[in-house]
Amino acid sequence: MKVLVSVKRVVDYNVKVRVKSDGSGMDLAGVKMSMNPFDEIAVEEAVRLKEKGVASEIVVVSCGVAQCQETLRTALAIGADRAILVETDAELQPLAVAKILKALVAKEQPGLVILGKQAIDDDCNQTGQALAAIADLPQATFASKVEVVDGKAKVTREVDGGLETVEVTLPAVVTTDLRLNEPRYVTLPNIMKAKKKPLETVKPADLGVDVTPRIKTLKVSEPPKRGAGVKVADVATLVDKLKNEAKVI
Ligand code: AMP
Repeated sequence: MKVLVSVKRVVDYNVKVRVKSDGSGMDLAGVKMSMNPFDEIAVEEAVRLKEKGVASEIVVVSCGVAQCQETLRTALAIGADRAILVETDAELQPLAVAKILKALVAKEQPGLVILGKQAIDDDCNQTGQALAAIADLPQATFASKVEVVDGKAKVTREVDGGLETVEVTLPAVVTTDLRLNEPRYVTLPNIMKAKKKPLETVKPADLGVDVTPRIKTLKVSEPPKRGAGVKVADVATLVDKLKNEAKVI
């Protein structure tokens, strides 16, 4: 079974991003970029499926600027077999990425498509669901456990207040939650090996996809700054302030 995994290049999760002074977006000049953490989990899961003998080939896909090649090389170093860069300088919104992935699903015919549940830059949580809808595939989102048996995937999902187990017929779309696995460290020998693995570059137009954005960002702003706190003399004063100033009790 072939597994297709999407990996997005995003601002590293340790970076504290700043809003541009004109409010048009984030200031990304010179900022460290990495693989979206949920996608690292997706690649790790695919590699584990291959190690168990369930998956036979892992194809990783990234859509975006030429530097996404670095993200793909990291995925190849974790254990993916081959990579596809869908290169464009255009702003890519989840629907456009879903259309690209749909075209690649038609071309590659994977048994399973694994995406992160969410990209930590746009926090959209839409691409996996959109792909399942437009490619007419079953979906199991927020997976914390995946078992593939007899052409079906049994997926445990993290839902409010507990766990839900669903079964989907393959081919299907699965999106990863944080507790699905802990991605392995990338070793130097594997980084060297990854340099020799195949990486193909295509353009969205080669796949017949129009990536024109449908949503316009009107404004981006910082959260309001927290005001300074005050020390109160005793409990009675605290209760009085909560009642009469903060009006929360
Ligand atoms: P989102 O819907 O933007 O929160 O993203 C959910 C998931 O879709 C991510 O974790 C990725 O697996 C995938 N994805 C979104 N954008 C891209 C992209 N530009 N390239 C590759 N994968 C992407």
